[in-house]
Amino acid sequence: MVLGSEYDVVVVGAGPGGSATARKCAELGLKTALLEKRQEIGIPVRCGEGLSIYAVQALGMVDKLPRQVYAQEIDGAIVYSPNGKKVVIDFGETVGYILERKMYDAWLAQQAARKGAYVQAKTEITQLVKEQKNGETYITGVKGNFESDDFEIKCNAVVGADGVEGRITRMAGLRSTLMLKTTDSGYQYEMVDIEMEDPRKLIIYFGSKISPRGYVWIFPKGDDRANVGIGIGSMGYEKTAKQYLDAWIATQPGIRKGSIVNTVCGGIPVGGFLKNMVLNGFAAVGDAAHQVNPIHGGGIGEAQRAGYILGHVLAEAKQKNDFSAKALATYNERWWTERGNMLRNVEKVREVMEKIADEDMDMLADSLDGETIMELCHGKRLSVLAKVLMKKPSLLKLATALV
Ligand SMILES: Cc1cc2nc3c(=O)[nH]c(=O)nc-3n(C[C@H](O)[C@H](O)[C@H](O)COP(=O)(O)OP(=O)(O)OC[C@H]3O[C@@H](n4cnc5c(N)ncnc54)[C@H](O)[C@@H]3O)c2cc1C
Repeated sequence: MVLGSEYDVVVVGAGPGGSATARKCAELGLKTALLEKRQEIGIPVRCGEGLSIYAVQALGMVDKLPRQVYAQEIDGAIVYSPNGKKVVIDFGETVGYILERKMYDAWLAQQAARKGAYVQAKTEITQLVKEQKNGETYITGVKGNFESDDFEIKCNAVVGADGVEGRITRMAGLRSTLMLKTTDSGYQYEMVDIEMEDPRKLIIYFGSKISPRGYVWIFPKGDDRANVGIGIGSMGYEKTAKQYLDAWIATQPGIRKGSIVNTVCGGIPVGGFLKNMVLNGFAAVGDAAHQVNPIHGGGIGEAQRAGYILGHVLAEAKQKNDFSAKALATYNERWWTERGNMLRNVEKVREVMEKIADEDMDMLADSLDGETIMELCHGKRLSVLAKVLMKKPSLLKLATALV
């Protein structure tokens, strides 16, 4: 098969957001192309690779995940507060996975292809085609290259699924530039021959000295292999994310002794959700639309869920033969109802957490149980957090911001 010259939908970028959108569009009968600039889909990995089972369930993928797409099943977490207090969250059953994203992303793209989308790697979109219709500007196609061959495709809609550094969404005209205050810097080593407390649990370390506005993570990929990483705010800190991570690893003999088999770095959107994600003939999905959980930085499940919502909206647009921004705005409405309002609550929690001192974080670790911590990561039980903060007069203002 070769790349055609006309499609209903052209999806730019075959990460989780792009593959999910393309899959849903193809399933619903749209002629769909999924185009990825990298030579091999899924490589290089730029991710801690954690995915919760709730996301997997919401996507209808339970019992369908092939064994090779994940390295480890996870049954909970061990969280260390700044003063070293340990909170163990144990669900006693699998609640998440540490993926092998190079396999996972390739599998998602294959799924889209099997549903009927045309998928092509090594294909970079360099320009959007814009036309005037009824006095308004519409995006009506893309220009790009496959190896050294240039091409142009006409389509009803382009989907910007080009990730955190993608330019397509901005090229289209959406105001999607990431602000420094809502972007974290991530840095990670995949390490082998290390010691871990429990290879079925995520291990998280908080503290402004270890990781300002973020955390250090150990995401196990087996008994002696893990992603050891850090996310920090992007401005106003003394050191880079790598320097903070190296300094922390130096204090951990069981980690320090290991080898580094892969390095990862990248920006992570942690808020600043877009009220509007559509234009005439265009919609953005995934990191390109900042659809990431602002507390833990997880964007795989969010990108896929948004991709499914968008796929349905594009299918409705095709039925009505109306790809105007007005018609596509249903995607804004559904995403904000199903995900955005919850994520905005999570952003509020993050805004509070970044303002409190280490000793207040320790107080929270003493007062909140594991279940509440998990719920806060899903934008729930904000009033419980507010009540704890209210115990201290200096935190009253922060508490009221939550309720
Ligand atoms: C250090 C770090 C750790 C992370 N850890 C986690 C984690 O543990 N769990 C989690 O859920 N999330 C994590 N994330 C976030 C997660 O990786 C992203 O949210 C997720 O990949 C977003 O998916 P996406 O499809 O929107 O974008 P991406 O996965 O970035 O895919 C975008 C794709 O578009 C392609 N592309 C870009 N421009 C073009 C173009 N012009 N033409 C064609 N193709 C193009 C890119 O090559 C890329 O393949 C982490 C991020 C970082 C940086």
